[in-house]
Amino acid sequence: HFLYLLVPFSMRHAVEHAYSAMFVLPEEGAADETSLRSFLGISAHELFHLWNVKRLRPAALWPYRYDREVYTSLHWFTEGVTDYYTGVSLLRAGLMEPSEYWQRLSAELTQMENTPAYALFSPAELSIDSWLAPSSYRPALYQGSFYAAGKRVGFLLDMTLRRETQGRVTLDSLLRYLYRRYYLRGKGLPEAALEQAAVRLGGPALKSFFERYVWGRDTPDYEALLAGLPLRVEVTQKPYSGWGRVGILRYRAESEGLRIEEVLLGSAAEKVGLEPGDLLLTVGGRAAKDLSPAFWDSLAEGAQLQLGWTRDGFPLEAAIQLRSALQKHIRIEPIAEDFLKSY
Ligand SMILES: [Zn+2]
Repeated sequence: HFLYLLVPFSMRHAVEHAYSAMFVLPEEGAADETSLRSFLGISAHELFHLWNVKRLRPAALWPYRYDREVYTSLHWFTEGVTDYYTGVSLLRAGLMEPSEYWQRLSAELTQMENTPAYALFSPAELSIDSWLAPSSYRPALYQGSFYAAGKRVGFLLDMTLRRETQGRVTLDSLLRYLYRRYYLRGKGLPEAALEQAAVRLGGPALKSFFERYVWGRDTPDYEALLAGLPLRVEVTQKPYSGWGRVGILRYRAESEGLRIEEVLLGSAAEKVGLEPGDLLLTVGGRAAKDLSPAFWDSLAEGAQLQLGWTRDGFPLEAAIQLRSALQKHIRIEPIAEDFLKSY
C-alpha cells in the first residue's frame, strides 16, 4: 500500500518498504498539473523499488547494516535504473503521453551532456561516492547524481540489449533474469552481476558497453548506440550566448560582485581556474556586477580580457581569450509511437 503524509510546508521525501511505500509531500498534493506529475513520478519510483532494491539488492546491502558506511558501485542501478523505470512505468500505464516522455528524456540527457561531473566521474564512481559527494569538500562543478547517471545508463542499456538482439532481449528480460538468478535463491547482487547478466543475455558488445559507460567515463555516442532502433536521434551543437560564452553558466549577484555557481568544463573561464564559489569582481577593468549578458554577445571571438576575482578572500586574476563554449542538444523521438510502451 501507499501511505501519504501531506504536510503544510515544502518537503518531498519517500521511502520504499518490502510491501509498501511511505511518502511525505506538500499538502497541495496533486492539485495542479505540475504537482500531479511530481506525485505520480515519486509514487511510480517507490513502486518500482519493490523489485529493484527490496528484491534485487546489491549483496553489499544484504543484510542492511545501520552501524557502518556501506559502499557499493551499484547505486546507478538501485536508484538510477529505478528512475528510468519511473518514466517507463508512467508511459506504459498511459499516465504519460509518448511525446512528453521523449521530450523529458531528451531534456534530461541534454542537461547531463552539459554538466561536467558526468564527464569526470563514471556511474560506478558516483555510486561509491554517495557517502562523500554531498559534503562540501568537492565544488559543485564536480558533483554528479547517481540517479541521473544511472537513468541514462538504464536507457542506453535497454537500447543496447534491444539493438544487439534485434529486440529479443530488453532491460525487462535482464531484470527478470536477475530476479530468478539471485533473489529467488535468497542472494544479493555481486558488484559484477549486472555486467555478467547483460553479456550473457545480450552478447559480447555488452562488455564494452559496461567498460565505457558504467565503469568508464565515456560520453555516450548516441548515434552509434541507437543505430538500427526505431528512434530518430538528433545531436546538435550551438554556441552559448551571454555569460555562457565564457563558460559561466550560473551566478548570483552579491553587493561586491558575482558569486559563481556553475562553470562549464573546457570553457575559457574554467581554463583559467574560475570555480564555483569564487566571487568575480572585474572583467576587462569593469565591475562584473554591472555587465549584462549583452556585453558578452557584443565581443568578437578571440577577444582578450582580464578577469579579477577572489576565493575565500584571496585575490586572483588571469587573462582569458574568448572562445565561445558550445552547448550540445540531444533530441530523441520514436519512429513508432508505441516503442517502449509494450512489455
Ligand atoms: Zn529511490
